Amino acid sequence: MSVYDKYELVIGLETHVQLSTKSKAFCADAITFGQEPNTQISTISLAYPGTLPQVNKKQIEYAVRLGVAVGCEINLENHFDRKNYFYADLPKGFQTTQDARPICVGGYVPVRVENYEKNIRLNRIHMEEDAGKSIHDLSPRHSFIDLNRAGTPLLEIVSEPDFRSAEEVEAYMTALRQLVRYLDISDGNMEQGSLRCDVNVSVRLKGAEEYGQRCEVKNLNSMRFARKAINFEFKRQVDLIEAGGKVQQNTLHFDPATGVTSPLRSKENAHDYRYFPEPDLPPIKLTKAYVTDIATNLPPLPYVLYDRFTTGFQLSDYDAKLITEERDTALLFQALAKATKSYKATVNLVINKIMPYIKEHSISAKDFPISVLQLSAFIQLLEDGKVSNSMAYQRLFPALLKSPNTPPLQLAEQLNLLQSDDADLLEKLIDDIIAQNPDKVKAYRNGKKGLLGFFMGQLMRASKGKADPKKANQLMVEKLK
Ligand code: ADP
Ligand code: MG
Repeated sequence: MSVYDKYELVIGLETHVQLSTKSKAFCADAITFGQEPNTQISTISLAYPGTLPQVNKKQIEYAVRLGVAVGCEINLENHFDRKNYFYADLPKGFQTTQDARPICVGGYVPVRVENYEKNIRLNRIHMEEDAGKSIHDLSPRHSFIDLNRAGTPLLEIVSEPDFRSAEEVEAYMTALRQLVRYLDISDGNMEQGSLRCDVNVSVRLKGAEEYGQRCEVKNLNSMRFARKAINFEFKRQVDLIEAGGKVQQNTLHFDPATGVTSPLRSKENAHDYRYFPEPDLPPIKLTKAYVTDIATNLPPLPYVLYDRFTTGFQLSDYDAKLITEERDTALLFQALAKATKSYKATVNLVINKIMPYIKEHSISAKDFPISVLQLSAFIQLLEDGKVSNSMAYQRLFPALLKSPNTPPLQLAEQLNLLQSDDADLLEKLIDDIIAQNPDKVKAYRNGKKGLLGFFMGQLMRASKGKADPKKANQLMVEKLK
């Protein structure tokens, strides 16, 4: 047993989600990603003296949507605060955020790790704005500032210290990404910074009641980096404690190039943000009816669909996970499964044909060119054995994509794909095959039963794939006796 086995990780996450509103949190500037620097700015986001902010109703709506989805209590009365600090990419000299009374408190996010499920409790969700971006690596002599991002609406989701491993953190981030996409409040894109987290890490002896001293690793924008930073911190903190030292409460920077964390600032040098209520924005007052309305119009949630698909529709864990990754794919599957009642055939079609198509064309399943009605008819042909699986997938489906309004049965007829259960024709084909292969027939009758595959292959070829495999098999076995 190594010393590391004596310790366990304790982790809490502060996650920032960039909202997909049209405009910024406190003014009408657009927030489109990837625009020319300093083209999405105004006197308000540049903090000209005398300008006044206004709240963005969508930011409030999105916060409530996420809050009710994860079972938070909504503070019907809440307000913005100023968090004061000086930084070049923060023109106002303070960040407008929520401190004393956030819009959402409590709640939890259910996560599924390898072989167990766990609820990660939330402390709060509050509204705030992003800062601009300082760029230090374009010139050896100058730093640049891009203020397009300044004032972009964010939600900060603060968890309780409920994580015990990097895997749980990963499962949670994956669940959050999926959730904000289901709720249509963010694209959840980690590479573009729409979802990023600060990771608070401490260690303690297994079985200990008290938490250890924590360090906070700032601004991780990929799952791989988060995992690396956590595992690096675990080892560093255990080594320190084992050597008789003490963990200092530091804010750390993680360098992806070296995989090492290094201190940004210590607790003693921590900012004093001098929070106070934002005087330029009135407090926010919501009605119960407003919250109830959002709650009743919530889309189905990923874990609810997962449960329904695994228990109601008998999908495997693997299939259900895949199908529920994107909301519209899950809803298309659900509509098809309800219409056809053939869950297995439906899940196969969605995973093997529909999902690759929508990925290739970068569309949502909502915009898949074949209607539910037509897709159901296609599945019905398969289930009735009218078209073989391989012919349906290889020929009929592409044809249906080309003429999505022609009934699949009619298309199958046109393409001559209908399986014959014409017993006379089958018998004749089988008789021919038996006549042409006397040696193999003899070997089969002497016990080489594996040759059945050969005979069936011959038959499928002779019938051009149209023989109904079940009937053909029965008849073949019969004739070979
Ligand atoms: P602060 O206001 O100083 O940032 P908070 O109490 O708001 O501190 O906690 C910030 C985050 O740190 C939360 O996600 C919380 O779960 C986490 N956290 C608190 N204590 C610990 C600990 N001992 N180990 C790991 N994470 C912790
Ligand atoms: Mg904090």
